Amino acid sequence: MKLVFERSRAGRKTAYFPALDVPAWKPETPLRAEAPRLPELPETEVDRHYTELSKQTYGVNNGFYPLGSCTMKYNPKINEDMAALPGFTGLHPLQPMETVQGALQVMEDIEKYLCEITGMDAMTLQPAAGAHGEFTGLLLIKAYHKSRGDEKRTKIIVPDSAHGTNPASAAMAGFEVISIDSDAHGFVDLDALRQAVGENTAGLMLTNPNTVGLFDPHILEITQIVHEAGGLCYYDGANLNAVMGIARPGDMGFDVVHLNLHKTFSTPHGGGGPGSGPSGCKAFLAEFLPGMRAVDGKLERASRSIGDVRGFYGNFLVVVKALTYILTIGAAGVPETAANAVLNANYMKEKLKDLYPMAYDHVCMHEFVMSLEQMKKENGVTAMDIAKALLDGGIHPPTMYFPLIVHEALMVEPTETETKETLDEAVALFRQIHEEALRHPEIMAEKPEKTPIRRPDEVLAARSPVIRYAFED
Ligand SMILES: *Cc1c(COP(=O)(O)O)cnc(C)c1O
Repeated sequence: MKLVFERSRAGRKTAYFPALDVPAWKPETPLRAEAPRLPELPETEVDRHYTELSKQTYGVNNGFYPLGSCTMKYNPKINEDMAALPGFTGLHPLQPMETVQGALQVMEDIEKYLCEITGMDAMTLQPAAGAHGEFTGLLLIKAYHKSRGDEKRTKIIVPDSAHGTNPASAAMAGFEVISIDSDAHGFVDLDALRQAVGENTAGLMLTNPNTVGLFDPHILEITQIVHEAGGLCYYDGANLNAVMGIARPGDMGFDVVHLNLHKTFSTPHGGGGPGSGPSGCKAFLAEFLPGMRAVDGKLERASRSIGDVRGFYGNFLVVVKALTYILTIGAAGVPETAANAVLNANYMKEKLKDLYPMAYDHVCMHEFVMSLEQMKKENGVTAMDIAKALLDGGIHPPTMYFPLIVHEALMVEPTETETKETLDEAVALFRQIHEEALRHPEIMAEKPEKTPIRRPDEVLAARSPVIRYAFED
């Protein structure tokens, strides 16, 4: 497709301003020597440009999007309606308190619900995403040890199945990362954990269900081992969709959590909008929370606050969407959502496992991981090839090559919002591609054939992205 600069013709325009009714102002010494080279187009062309652009991409609104670990569930339109209410969009963060009581109520309500769902006592809404919530939670752990004069606790234990943000956040928060192996079932190896903890342990970071989609049956033992060594337990809440309303991290022994409102609580993510990663904690850590919390119609800063991790109150309108979602599905809908997410994942897993070997063939939670290792060895067809072929079939591929502990991994998370018909169509496509891969392995490296862009050089695209238009003259 043509770029907006290529559609541009000098002098064409969309906006027509009324004649000036104040004296014109011209700076004596302009800051820039030349006018910016903005594209000039009439409204029809602008409209067509963006419509065409939107057709080049793929979102939850286009079709099935089983991107594991990302919980790409449908974002109900009512969330957008609520977040667009002028009473919310027209707010200024420095308005007098008596004029923003509704917004404070939103913050108080969602904190109450999220604390109830996670088993935490207090929460900050400041962090802008999951990774930011991790960083915030780790700063709470750091502040806690420091407040007790226990500054030798410099190590954070992270299982090798963890999401990459976990070790990255721990390192950013100034900790040393200790990686421990998973056992043959994909769970935390208890012996490895016992050996790893000690007087230098600041804490453990864990997601449960873990990144291979399994609920760790030793979870109480795990948190106990860490606590007995004097460390704290951090729950990466990205996989909460599988257990919300059924099992609470607070009851599993976790002290700090983050949630991804843009995953579990149905606010758009990816290119769709800003995220929100609230950090929650048990009461004994609440005095360190960042930012201002809404309490009884007022804003309060915690007594030994770590400061601010973001401006004002975080991505407030994302919080409005998440609250709308919680109120829409209601108290009974929260566990029902989790149950359906688990049901959908197990349904697909059972329908695929004869062709696609499961990395861990247990009853899974909200997602499952397949391994194409054998296919690669015998036919030379990789997980990447299968993913690319799925694009031609009109669905978004699963997560590829994650978690790192599974070779040739494809990680499927159907989410609860998909119908049985959609799951059946996806299963049929997976099976048809498998058949094709066995019959014509040589053509698989040519996939996809139908997408606007076929196989980009991903390393080059990541290392040297072209993000500016190069004018010819
Ligand atoms: C998505 C995810 C994160 C990071 O969350 P962001 O909102 O993308 O920063 C962390 N851990 C797990 C397991 C995830 O799936």
